[in-house]
Amino acid sequence: MSDVARARVLQQVDELMPSAISRLQDLIRIPSISGTADENVAQAHMADLFRAGGLDVDHWSIDLDELQQHVDFPGMEVPRDEAWGLVGRLPGSGSGDGATLMLNGHVDVVPPGDRHAWNGDPFAASIQDGTIVGRGSCDMKAGLIAAHWAVQAIRLAGVKLRGDLLVAAVQGEEDGGLGTFALLQRGWRADACVIPEPTGLDLVPGNAGALTFRLRIRGHATHASRRTEGVSAIEKFLPVWHALQDLESRRHRDVDPATAKFGLTHPLSIGTIHSGDWPSSVPDLLVAEGRFGIALGEPVERARVEFEEAIAEASAGDDWLRGHAVEVEWWGGQFASGQLAADSDLLQRVASAHDLASSGGTPATWIAPYGSDLRLLTDIGCIPALQYGPGDARLAHGPDESVPIDEVVVTARTLAVLALDVCGIA
Ligand SMILES: [Zn+2]
Repeated sequence: MSDVARARVLQQVDELMPSAISRLQDLIRIPSISGTADENVAQAHMADLFRAGGLDVDHWSIDLDELQQHVDFPGMEVPRDEAWGLVGRLPGSGSGDGATLMLNGHVDVVPPGDRHAWNGDPFAASIQDGTIVGRGSCDMKAGLIAAHWAVQAIRLAGVKLRGDLLVAAVQGEEDGGLGTFALLQRGWRADACVIPEPTGLDLVPGNAGALTFRLRIRGHATHASRRTEGVSAIEKFLPVWHALQDLESRRHRDVDPATAKFGLTHPLSIGTIHSGDWPSSVPDLLVAEGRFGIALGEPVERARVEFEEAIAEASAGDDWLRGHAVEVEWWGGQFASGQLAADSDLLQRVASAHDLASSGGTPATWIAPYGSDLRLLTDIGCIPALQYGPGDARLAHGPDESVPIDEVVVTARTLAVLALDVCGIA
């Protein structure tokens, strides 16, 4: 790699900083909650940004009906009748001997939750003590803007690449990954991909998975004054719940050391419970929804069977449940685990790009306990992929989510150096 070209690009990254940070604020101010119209607004906003930045732009309306018919469709938990794909491309020299690098980030964010838990408006994107605060700041609008910023620095520095540099903005990541799935179905491919999700500038070459489930537990309704003649669905949920807690601890007996950074590497959690329709009736139905963690490399089908067997065992030990089977439904996001191919050199390349672009030091490597688009890129796209980006994932989805500006800068610098390395300088 030419040191002169690299220095020119890094200088360009630094010069672009004020405008990049204000672009990040603009993007956070679009409340692009998964499944809302603002998700599409954010995609259109990014398409304008890509166009203004001189990229070849593919901005297409996703045929959701067709996509959902696909056997590998990764799930969708919020209703949508519109979704958009977006890939910007900085064309290579056309000599055909450079590799293609994709930078992939999602524009959708989860809802802000209780607004009183925030110190201000979740979508104000205010700057406080060197951080930008707002829903979606670290997860992952900062990473997406850093990717665009890196591409622009290369373009404005006048450095020509041998291979293509792609930046993909996707929606629907938080509820399954339909956006990345759609771009793969459209035929977009790369030789390597970095997802700048919040890793605190560490290297994350894999994710545990998560399957969304729904349980239906039936009881028998009576007037509450005669409750012993009915069967409460709430009480019948309790043995099921205990069985799921046992299942979770059984599944953590032997944990891959690479995932040990987090106490529970693939937790099982109940997220919603609905039961009953009247205070003085014995409830005849309980519907519980939750998230079943999948260990790194664990086949999804085997995990589902283990879950269903635990439910069946709990039912067998209960007189009522034996005759009234608990229904298990797999719906919504079905995140398999995902992992960077063992023979890929992407991890080393990102580590050395980080070293060249920052004040040095070797980033830590760990496996994240949550699902992401990584598994779609590796498994369906056969693209070596890893996560490296600004911000602390613990702040994602919580109040006062924020991202340190200096980490956004380092991410943009690292991604630019990585692109010079992977795509090659013409
Ligand atoms: Zn994310």
